[in-house]
Parts: sequence; C-alpha cells; structure tokens
Amino acid sequence: MAENKKKKESLSFQAEVSKLLDIVANSLYSEREIFLRELISNSADACEKLRYLAITKKGLLGDQKDLSIHIRLSKKKKIIEIEDNGIGMSRQELIDNLGTIARSGTNKFIEAMKTKKKDDLSAIGQFGVGFYSSYMVAETVDVLSKSAENKETNLWSSNGKDGYSIENQNKKDRGTIISLKIKKDADEFLDSIRLRSIITKYSNYIPFPIYLKDLDSKDKEEKVNEGEPLWLKDKKKIKKEDYKQFYNNISFNFDDPLKTIHYNAEGVINYKALLFLPTNQPMDLFNPDRKNKIKLYVQKVFITDDCEEIIPHWLRFIPGVVDSQDISLNISREMLQNNPIISKIKKGITIKILNELSALADVETKAYLNFWKNFGAVIKEGLYEFNDHHDKILPLLRFHTSENEEVISLDDYLLKMVKNQNEIYYFANTDKEHIKNSPQLETFIDKKIPVLFMTDAVDEFWLQNASKYKDKTFKSITKGKIDLSKIKSTNTKEKENSESKNNTNINDLINVLKKELENKISNVVVSNRLTKSPIILIADESGMDINMEKLMKMHNKTMPDSKKILEINPNHPMILKLSESLSKIDHKKLSSLLLDQANILDGNVLSNPTNYIESLTELFIK
Ligand code: ADP
Repeated sequence: MAENKKKKESLSFQAEVSKLLDIVANSLYSEREIFLRELISNSADACEKLRYLAITKKGLLGDQKDLSIHIRLSKKKKIIEIEDNGIGMSRQELIDNLGTIARSGTNKFIEAMKTKKKDDLSAIGQFGVGFYSSYMVAETVDVLSKSAENKETNLWSSNGKDGYSIENQNKKDRGTIISLKIKKDADEFLDSIRLRSIITKYSNYIPFPIYLKDLDSKDKEEKVNEGEPLWLKDKKKIKKEDYKQFYNNISFNFDDPLKTIHYNAEGVINYKALLFLPTNQPMDLFNPDRKNKIKLYVQKVFITDDCEEIIPHWLRFIPGVVDSQDISLNISREMLQNNPIISKIKKGITIKILNELSALADVETKAYLNFWKNFGAVIKEGLYEFNDHHDKILPLLRFHTSENEEVISLDDYLLKMVKNQNEIYYFANTDKEHIKNSPQLETFIDKKIPVLFMTDAVDEFWLQNASKYKDKTFKSITKGKIDLSKIKSTNTKEKENSESKNNTNINDLINVLKKELENKISNVVVSNRLTKSPIILIADESGMDINMEKLMKMHNKTMPDSKKILEINPNHPMILKLSESLSKIDHKKLSSLLLDQANILDGNVLSNPTNYIESLTELFIK
C-alpha cells in the first residue's frame, strides 16, 4: 500500500475547476497581488484549525507550539514560498480541496464573473476558491503538505492546465509549503519590499506572525505583520485604515466599512465584538447557502466561522469577530447549538446592530438610504421570522410610495395619513412600474392617500407576521374590500359621478358577468377604487393577495388559481355603454372580453389572446 502511494499519480481537474483556472490564468486583472492575501489567509485558517483541534487532542502540537507563517522569495530561482505549520492536508484532502471535487463556490464564481466587470477577480475569496488565484502569477504551483492528523506527506503539483500530479514525499514538519514558480510577466513580485507592502496592506491583522525572508540576501528573516488580534486592542489606538484592512480580511469584501461597531460587553455575559456594516452589497448575498461571516473566538482561540446561532440569518451580511471568555475552550462545535451563552450573545449583538442602524438612519440619512438599498430586503427577513425585534426593525424600513420618488419610513407615512384614514395602505409587486400604472391606485391618487410600494419578494411574507405598525393595520389595496367613503376626493366631479346614472343596467351587467364567469370568478361587484379604468381583479379578503399567489406559483407550478373578485367601474363610459346594450351583445363573448381586460391590467398573460382579439374586433365592427 505504502509502496503504491509513492508512485506519482496524474489526475485531471474537475471540469468546473478547469474552467475557473482558465478564467484566472487569462485574466488581465491588475491587482494580481491579491494571490498573496488568499494564500496567507488559507495558511492562517490552517493554523486556526490546528489550534482548535489541539484543545481536545493534546499531543497534536508536539514540540511546535508556536504557529506561524513564513514567506520566502528568490529572484534567482523565480520562486515565492508560503509555509505554515498548521493542520496540513492528507493525500485525499489535497485531491478534494485542490482539484477534484467541485467546491460549491466554483460554479458561482464562474457565473458571477460572467455578469461582473470582466477582469475583476478581487472577490475570488468570497467564493471559497482563493487558492486558484495563485495561477495569476505562477506558471506552476507545488503544494507540499504533511497532515497533522495522519502524518501523510504528499506533493501536489500542477501547471493549472493539464491536470495535476500527486506523489508521496518526505517532509519533516507538519503543515504546508506552497511554492509558486513565478511567471515572467509577474516578476515584479520577486521583490521583498513589494511583498512586505502587500503583507502589511492585506494581512497585517492575521493573528499569527508572518515572517519574510529573501533567500538571495543575507538579511535575516523578519516578522512583518502586527499580529495582535485587533478586537482586543484599545479602540483609541486603532486607526481607520486598520479597521478597514481587518474588515477586508475577514469579509472578503473590498469596500470601506460603512460603519464599524467595536464594543466590549460586560455584565451577565462577557464578550468582545468587532462588527462591520458593509458599504456595498456582496455578490453572493442572495445565495441560499451563504453563511454568516462571524468568526467565534474563545479567549483569542478561533473556534469556528460556522456558528449559525451567533447572529440572526437576516444579519448574515455583517462580518466580524466575537470573542467570549464565558464559553469553555473545550466546547465542541456541536455543543454550540442551543447553547444558552451563544443565544445571549446573539441577542446582544442583534440589539446593538439594530440600535446602530437606527442611529445611522437618524443622523446619516443619505448613507442609511444607500445601506437600505443594498440590505433592506435582507433586514425584512427579520420580520418574517418570529423574534423580539419587530419593534426595532419596523422603523428601519424604507419605501417608495404613490406620492413621488422620495423614500419614506413608516413614521413618515403615519404623518402623511389623511383625515379619516385608519389603515396603512400598500401595494405589493416586485415591479415598481407595474404598481405605478395599476388601476388599483387611481382612487388613492385622486384622494391623495399615500400608498406604500412593497417591491421586495419578501414583503408579502413578513406582512403576514407583522400586521400592524403603532396600532395601524397594514392593508393591501389589491385585496378584499376597501372603504374610502369617509375620505374626501380632491376631484369635484366625484360626487356627481359617484352615483351611477343607470343602476338597473349596471346590475343587469353584473348579473350577466356573474352567470357567465361563474367558474372563473368568485364574485362581481361595483368598484369604489377605480376612477379611470373600467375593470380590475381583486383578491378575496380571506384569500391570498394576487402578487403573493404569483410568487407562490413560481415555486409550485401546479398550484391551482384561486378565484378573484371582478370589480367594475359603474361610471366608466365603456361599462355604461355595454350595460345599456346588453340585449344586443353576445353575453358569453362580452364576459370573457371584460375578464381578459382585467387580466391584462393585472399584468397577466392571456391564455387565449386570439379569442380576445376576435371578440374585440367583432365589437368594433358592430
Ligand atoms: P477556501 O480557503 O476559501 O476554502 P481555497 O480555494 O483558497 O478556498 O482553498 C481550498 C481548501 O484547501 C481550503 O478550504 C483548505 O481546506 C485547503 N487548503 C488550502 N490551503 C491550505 C493550507 N495552507 N493548509 C491546509 N489546507 C489548505
């Protein structure tokens, strides 16, 4: 067996990996220096993993208790090496991690590259495929690794094109050495001053010492980074740039943080937290399997970055570090679930973030609106979930309205409510233009009653949980009855129009429609929300809102249509004309024509457009 493993084995990259390598190698990305940031970050992860494992497996560290990262370069040999004494990789891990198994991020990265600015590879780390960025500067990459656990030692080697080879090799110490054979056009990196500046630029706060050595010079190896965990430092001594670098490191976002939240919680529960509000929206924000970006430490020892319980899912865009002395170092990752201390920390963090957001909304309106544009839809998920924070989340919401292009809060809405208005009116549809042009808005615009536009898919869902704001109920204007009779119209003609001139005929028309559309419609009624349009569809009071039904259908195509209410405008000239000429028109055709019109106004695709055109033509010709 051992003999067998010694043999050099050649393997092919998984198809997606090849595609990715192709993008990386051929990119003209100007900030190629990020390869070092990615490799150092992997080394630091490997050290953190080992330190964590060593808590329970005492002998694992052996006589190498100090974990560190060493960078070496030689201009003569055209190499850069990155060495760590972290957890290392077994043969199988080398195969899985660096070549064969498509990592979940690979495809997503390729997808994202299609839509993003062509050569911007800076986000590569966000997708968990940072290792491959080494091929921006290297023609071959050798990875010599000794696993701390099973002591297997192997050399993985590849030019990033024709697959890779793997063979058994000797290595004294545990950990990994990554050797890059630097491409001709990347020799600018074979310079210790350049490398030093890259390390301090991106990796200054990596919590392990990083040493740099120029193999061609007699100069001694030198420690380059600051190393001390930033979150433990005195706030007053931390510069803005330090925070930014730390933020960039842990989040793989490369914007400036919009806000830095650094605090020390003392009392019932003790922890230090360093959290950031991003300025830009991370590319993977809406990936369903995106996890939070919080690293959990216990007294400086990294425990996990995979603790779903530490921050609510609807704050998953907030990167940061939490370090608590109240958790036992011996805690296993499984024990973090349902852990009362973690729950308390989660509550503390959530309240802190919500307070900061509310202060930002009050003081820095413009910055807040930008934040809301990027993250509002995610925050709203917090209202869909049952939790204690709805009272703090609701005032953070911002909406477009029927009034103008300005974005308003719910408190602004309450101030804008007109006399005798008792409900908060909204229209939910992900297409803002559709809302603006919908007949349902007519009366509201006429009576100057503001309507909130709920344009995020999540809106329909949270509205089911949070039905009120400060004793005012949210009311959809596309569903059920709406009584606006107590609110005066600004249009003087309304009064004389409001009573239909020809009630009997209208009633006859309603009866015809009810009969002919019996199987398609739940009811036909006179509308009090239309001023210009002849007809609309409304969801039943007890049923699902129209937009919600459309959303649900996207996921479940077999869901049956619910029957809607057809509302007709008794003052519309077409309706009046039709109701007067009922005896001369084919009732079946008339009914289906009107239903089709209502469907068109609702943005639906007609199942039989030919029928509609034929009936319409017939009516014109007559
Ligand atoms: P990511 O680090 O985001 O998971 P990478 O493509 O950078 O993605 O690395 C792939 C995987 O290879 C890592 O998750 C890790 O398991 C392994 N790996 C990379 N570098 C090292 C290293 N220096 N020591 C141990 N494992 C490593």
